Amino acid sequence: MVGTMSGGCQCGRVRYTAQVADDEAYLCHCRMCQRATGGVSIAFKNLARAEVAWECEPEWFASSPVAKRPFCRECGTPLGFAFDASDRIDLTVGSFDDPSAFYPTANFGVESKHAAWQDTSHLPSHKVTETASVIQRWQDAGLEVPE
Ligand SMILES: [Zn+2]
Ligand SMILES: [Zn+2]
Repeated sequence: MVGTMSGGCQCGRVRYTAQVADDEAYLCHCRMCQRATGGVSIAFKNLARAEVAWECEPEWFASSPVAKRPFCRECGTPLGFAFDASDRIDLTVGSFDDPSAFYPTANFGVESKHAAWQDTSHLPSHKVTETASVIQRWQDAGLEVPE
């Protein structure tokens, strides 16, 4: 999808809109991103800073002397990455309201890549919405399993 896309943090406090010109994104495997997100890799969409408008400003963590990472102080969602004094910014693909709009075109930081997690398509696969123990917890709370 191309055009104005929206996204934000898990609790909904921080929201953004981005002018997206193409559906190309990438995976960063670097150790800094692993520590910052808790994931084995993180999917980013690279944009011009001028293409991103924050409806509510995020907090910025100086993850190194040369870069900062936007996040929400309330829920902790990692929202992106930007080198200081750069006119570019990465937004986390998962923070977009529709992450399926993007596809990966490159791997970065591959010196720290955990190869065993790259292709998990051969492993047993389960849907949350078909896992009885999870469904029961939501039903006990009087709710449906969220998508
Ligand atoms: Zn939040
Ligand atoms: Zn990285």
